[in-house]
Amino acid sequence: MSVVIAQESGKKAAAEPPWMKDSAAKLERELSGNYGEAARPRLQRGLKQVAEFWRAEDGDAAGFEAFVRESFAGDPKTLDALFARMESAMESLDGHMLEINRDFRKQSDLDIGPIYFFDETLAGYDPSAHVADDFFENKLAFAVLLNYPVTGLSQRLAEGEKWSRRQWAETRLAERFSKRVPASVNLAIGKAASEAEQYISEYNIWMHHLVDDKGNRLFPPKLRLLSHWNLRDEIKADYGAGDAKNGLAKQRTIARVCERIVTQTIPDSVVNNPQVDWNPFTNDVRPTADKDSDFPAPAGRKTGNAPEPDTRYAMLLGTYRAARLADPYSPTAPTMIARRFDENRQIPEARVKKMLEDVLSSPLAPRVAKLIEKRLGRKLEPFDIWYAGFKPRGAYTEAQLDEIVRKRYPTPEAYKKDIPNLLVQLGFSKEKAEFLASNIVVDPARGSGHAMGAQRRGDQAHLRTRVEKEGMNYKGFNIAVHEMGHNVEQTFSLNEIDHTLLQGVPNTAFTEALAFVFQARDLELLGLPKPDAQARALETLNDFWGTFEIGGVALVDMGVWHWMYDHPDATPAQLKEGTLQIARDVWNKYYAPIFGQKDVTLLAIYSHMINSFLYLPDYPIGHMIAFQIKQQMDKTGQVGPEFERMTTAGNIAPDLWMKNATGFPVGPEALLAETEKALTQVK
Ligand SMILES: [Zn+2]
Repeated sequence: MSVVIAQESGKKAAAEPPWMKDSAAKLERELSGNYGEAARPRLQRGLKQVAEFWRAEDGDAAGFEAFVRESFAGDPKTLDALFARMESAMESLDGHMLEINRDFRKQSDLDIGPIYFFDETLAGYDPSAHVADDFFENKLAFAVLLNYPVTGLSQRLAEGEKWSRRQWAETRLAERFSKRVPASVNLAIGKAASEAEQYISEYNIWMHHLVDDKGNRLFPPKLRLLSHWNLRDEIKADYGAGDAKNGLAKQRTIARVCERIVTQTIPDSVVNNPQVDWNPFTNDVRPTADKDSDFPAPAGRKTGNAPEPDTRYAMLLGTYRAARLADPYSPTAPTMIARRFDENRQIPEARVKKMLEDVLSSPLAPRVAKLIEKRLGRKLEPFDIWYAGFKPRGAYTEAQLDEIVRKRYPTPEAYKKDIPNLLVQLGFSKEKAEFLASNIVVDPARGSGHAMGAQRRGDQAHLRTRVEKEGMNYKGFNIAVHEMGHNVEQTFSLNEIDHTLLQGVPNTAFTEALAFVFQARDLELLGLPKPDAQARALETLNDFWGTFEIGGVALVDMGVWHWMYDHPDATPAQLKEGTLQIARDVWNKYYAPIFGQKDVTLLAIYSHMINSFLYLPDYPIGHMIAFQIKQQMDKTGQVGPEFERMTTAGNIAPDLWMKNATGFPVGPEALLAETEKALTQVK
């Protein structure tokens, strides 16, 4: 309760102890006397950083003064020793925590037998949950804050280019302690996130129960689609050969369903309920005349066609209200918006917005739209933001590819054994390939696959891949190659880096882009001809159109978070109106001129918007970064050495990383240039 009050009154998390000013001034005089005037700026900064987080329970004036006298590393030798010790300690801590977590999750993550209730408990346990609290309690966090600079994004952008690698590592060390969020706040955030997650994960539409005016059903029995992923993917699947007769009618129906969800005019009783039939155009609801499932009507929902009571926006509001509880404890990034852009992405929001607008207002968009109209043989409709017809038809069918892959990789071990060979084909030297392979463990995944890097040298990266009983199929191979790209990035950026505090990449878009470099070469790795210029051009147009779509979605997500911060006391109904207005505005500005229809709200359908705390801008940024890296790889021809050179830069500012990798800062130029070229190539 007190936390909420502190936030709403806009005050700092905890008032500075009354003695702090005097104590700090006294220490500054005393210690700059001891260590010389040159130490004074560092002292001032350190004292300010410690004072920011010092609470009454950390000690009184005498305790604070004793701590500072003992912990200020006034001479270079002590400062170096503290840095080295913390770097090594953090690597060990992170690395071992990750190992414990990986071991605890093993039964849940891997396809190695039944999951018991205790396996679920083990998987849910986070051994590092109390680490941050411990480090403030034993004052190691304060020792770091006293001696190394906490920098905000703007400072890193302004000065970072001139910093040494050691300076970058120091600021990453200090950044770890740049917030002190109470456990109760983290708990509240976790609770809101899991409630929203739960809401999203049960939001199914039973498709056979969508009927038109004549009672016709377009979709087969038992088909249950999760909003928004499955609904969107069904629209994509209905292009072309999917369903020539009813494809368009299906797409229009799904688009109407999406609008009903976004506007919350969807009847409450039709969500996740196969016991009623629903006409999404008239909104008429009746008991089903065609039972295809025993799945019961969800308990507690109103029957009839009373609308869903803005639950979608109540969930979103819940995540916002929880997220902002952390604001007062995060002085360098005091809003969720700042934490996403300044900390997670490390690109200022204004830059991201500009990059998105550059794509959305590009003159290439209407040209690509014209081409789509030509291919469809009709005018565009709003759901064509999900047009999926640029996929090239390969020389081999999926069944033929399955056959080839199955023979090569009957087991995960067979894939593991082939890794050095695959890496040599990608242009890594034999020695490098062996080194990388020895750092990658292959596990049988329960899901489709993922890559889990190590965080301390001496541990290995894990490639989780799905191998069916009859052997690996093509889809599994395609994913395994993608995950292997992650593993190689993870191995280089941990084992070949000068400072482990800089391990990794600037943000997730970078590791995804690097993984795509591998994935795009999967056919070559099977010894098959690589995609021709025509196929590559189609692929580029597909990516452009995908970026054009998700860029608008991202702008809506950003707009909505600002709206929530501007209207902290809004009701779910007000948030709904705010969201719809933002979605319409973005649509009207960038899409209506191309689609010839105004006030469409489809851009607000993404489920991430409800439960993922402003995550969506990652997708379009990812596409742009992928094109920059791809362009560089194509230019040099050889993947191996370029990949290694790029990945050993580590977690520095994204623009610095990208300038080192390609000569240019992060931006949409590569994507736009490749699209322009592709437009001239596609027949
Ligand atoms: Zn990935």
